[in-house]
Amino acid sequence: MKRKVLLFTTLLLTTFVFQGMNSARKNRTKVIAHRGAWKNTGVPQNSLASLQHAIRLGCYGSEFDVHMSADSVLVINHDHTIQGVALETTPAAQLAAIKLSNGEALPTLEAYLNAGKKQKQTRLILEIKASQVSKERSLALAEKCVEMVRKTKTRALVDYISFDYDVCKKVKELDPKAQVAYLNGDKTPEQLAADGFYGLDYHHSIYKKNENWIKEAQQKGLTLNVWTVNDQPLMEWFLERNVDFITTDQPELLLEITKAQ
Ligand code: MG
Repeated sequence: MKRKVLLFTTLLLTTFVFQGMNSARKNRTKVIAHRGAWKNTGVPQNSLASLQHAIRLGCYGSEFDVHMSADSVLVINHDHTIQGVALETTPAAQLAAIKLSNGEALPTLEAYLNAGKKQKQTRLILEIKASQVSKERSLALAEKCVEMVRKTKTRALVDYISFDYDVCKKVKELDPKAQVAYLNGDKTPEQLAADGFYGLDYHHSIYKKNENWIKEAQQKGLTLNVWTVNDQPLMEWFLERNVDFITTDQPELLLEITKAQ
């Protein structure tokens, strides 16, 4: 009788463990649309339309890049220039006249956050672009971003990322509860954990070179994000390693893969 009870208990436990593993595996890795969902939708990167498409797809997050105009207005664009105009040395009134290829005006951060907060499902992954003018401007941009997130009441929806370590630390200083991940790939999980970071958000080649960082980060409770993963075999490599997020130009493909698992 005792043996039967033991056997039954073992079976039950095994079932729970396997179920637990399956549910942990299922949907564990979340999809972040890189510069919004633009590649398969035909809208410009970093446009409000690309954000709307990422939301419509049900992405966990939609990433976008922030710069500061000459007169300290925050605008969304990847490069430091748009249509030959340098964002950092041009006043906002002039930038406002710029139209994206879909007819949208160059979005301000304020407009982007206000559009994003109309929903709760897709997080807004705010990349603070380092200034090409000075470190001071990078830090001022960080400060303005935190201010704008507060002003638009989007703190619960926004995660911050940056290639500039000082910018990341500045955000943590201004908003200790902010979730901040570092992009540049040159800090160990140990250092990021010591500095109170939310996680690593590194290029895929960095994880391939330092595969031990994946386990180390997981053990330290840091999140793992990887950019920019656009092909299926690479997606599978990171899915097998249970990273928290994959940032991709192909959110449709990654959503399909993660849903099938
Ligand atoms: Mg970016």
